[in-house]
Amino acid sequence: MNNQKRREIFTRWREANPKPTTELDYTTPFELLIAVILSAQATDKGVNKATARLFPVANTPEAILALGLEGLKAHIRTIGLYNAKAENILKTCRILVAHHGSQVPRERTALEALPGVGRKTANVILNTAFGEPTIAVDTHIFRVANRTGLAPGKTPLAVEQRLLKVVPAEFRRDAHHWLILHGRYTCTARAPRCGDCLIADLCDFKEKTL
Ligand code: SF4
Repeated sequence: MNNQKRREIFTRWREANPKPTTELDYTTPFELLIAVILSAQATDKGVNKATARLFPVANTPEAILALGLEGLKAHIRTIGLYNAKAENILKTCRILVAHHGSQVPRERTALEALPGVGRKTANVILNTAFGEPTIAVDTHIFRVANRTGLAPGKTPLAVEQRLLKVVPAEFRRDAHHWLILHGRYTCTARAPRCGDCLIADLCDFKEKTL
């Protein structure tokens, strides 16, 4: 795929959705961090249901620590892997209180040092809470980047690095959300909706269902 096509793809996504954002509900960087930790292998909808109960009770590291392990679990037990996630969240809260003034750090190394936070989560926080032009490659972005020819790569990291190289600067901050939304609702895993796709004429996928 050439750069002219890439620019056209993002131009169309921007026209259709000028201010894309996450579907996770949050009001502070800390709430977003907790929601993203909870979202591993879970749906945003499921996470939003749980955080709608949790955040009014506890939306700071101190308040979540005050809930304790069992108290926290009681609020998130509808989410998959909630035992491990609860433990990671408590450890993360302890580190935030002890080393970051109870704030979410705006720095990749510090974010990735938090339990339950890997490169992908750090990228989401940097991008969505702090407006950095990072791109978190999840399963949707990995698929869309490879299928379309936008930024092919064998691993999520390879796709991330290629996207950062080829996405024009003006689109880089929002690229993450346009790509995820496209993968989630149009270029779906099993049956991509090529007939309704905004970028079908620009996509290199050989098995388009047009
Ligand atoms: S044309 Fe089909 S395969 Fe290509 S991006 Fe659109 S939905 Fe995905």
